[in-house]
Amino acid sequence: MCQQHSQNRDRKDNAQHAQGAQEAFPWELGVYDAHCHPTDTPASVSKISSMKARVLTIMATREQDQDLVAGTCVEYGVKNPELLKSGEGGETQRIVPAFGWHPWFSHQIYDDTTAAPSYDGTPEGKRAHYDAVLQPKPSSKDPAFSDGLPEPRALSALLEETRARLREHPYALVGEVGVDKAFRVPENWTADQEASRNQNLTPGSREGRLLSPHRVSMTHQTAILQAQLRLAGELGRAAHGALYEALAQTWKGHKKEVLSRREKNQIAMNAENFSSSDESEDDDAEVVSKAKAPAKSSTGHKITPMPFPPRICLHSYSGSVDFLKQYLHPSVPAKIFCSFSIVINWGQAGGGDKAEDVIRALPDNRILVESDLDAAGKDMDSDLEEVARKICEIKGWNLRQGVAQLAQNWHEFIFDD
Ligand SMILES: [Zn+2]
Repeated sequence: MCQQHSQNRDRKDNAQHAQGAQEAFPWELGVYDAHCHPTDTPASVSKISSMKARVLTIMATREQDQDLVAGTCVEYGVKNPELLKSGEGGETQRIVPAFGWHPWFSHQIYDDTTAAPSYDGTPEGKRAHYDAVLQPKPSSKDPAFSDGLPEPRALSALLEETRARLREHPYALVGEVGVDKAFRVPENWTADQEASRNQNLTPGSREGRLLSPHRVSMTHQTAILQAQLRLAGELGRAAHGALYEALAQTWKGHKKEVLSRREKNQIAMNAENFSSSDESEDDDAEVVSKAKAPAKSSTGHKITPMPFPPRICLHSYSGSVDFLKQYLHPSVPAKIFCSFSIVINWGQAGGGDKAEDVIRALPDNRILVESDLDAAGKDMDSDLEEVARKICEIKGWNLRQGVAQLAQNWHEFIFDD
């Protein structure tokens, strides 16, 4: 990622040189990073307070970073979104945390909510668990591989821990979660490698290790993702990550009815709540939401516990416009946002063209910016500015209008306002 990032830097410097002076970037309107990992480089966290971006949404991914993410909020957690919106958040409201378990670590979890859990606490059970969730089975290729992997953790314990963190942080969301078909588990560290690893990085990530042939079964990844999506739904929190099929299963039976104008008129008298009263002639499909009696969250927000998150952001969305249509269909009972980053969306050949098509197809109020970088500081600000400028250009927004729209979108995603 770092190598790719410095290439982007060079490209950007050249591009700026060619264009000459640009309109000053309106940081004062509030720029919000919807997805990043500064706790991967703990020393960078102290730079957050001097960044130009107003708030970073910091994702947790694995065992080693959950406490670090929570720790950043002690001093800099967002406590009053209203003040933030007015630009008076000051130096102390800089972070919204997200707690979740990334798919790259999902094999470390065993599902103890099923009748026959894959792990029983014994050394043989550890091999049996990794045989059950990894393909090819480690015991068939390299029996010692499983022994070097972490002791599997119970899904119920992970959910309990995440639930407690979410309750402690009333604006926290669930993330980073998702599935990754292509992911392969890195080889275990050798003793020499481990002794000479970079101590400035939070442990647990790949750090240049070679990849083993072992992939995590999609069934297992999906089970871990869905359990976390259900938790987000239970607490009425947004989620960051996710994939359509896994999401759609969580809202089975909760899809919003899409009714014709005639049907709508027939039931309008009795409907408790409908989302739009737009009377335009070409609008023949209206969405009727069946809201249950709302409950209040600790923040005073009305929440209705559901089996899926009320708001979902698709991280660095790299799919097609056609696939996006499934997410944007009026029957989808959650608000779907897409976030875009320089490192992922513009970091691979052809990625930028694809992102442009998707951004053009997205409603104005469903677009977010993110850096996805693993260190806070100037590069993060620079990437956020670059992606925001790109989006404004693609959407034909003037810079101030666009940055204000992106800020408003982030507020809606995080606080539902
Ligand atoms: Zn990420």
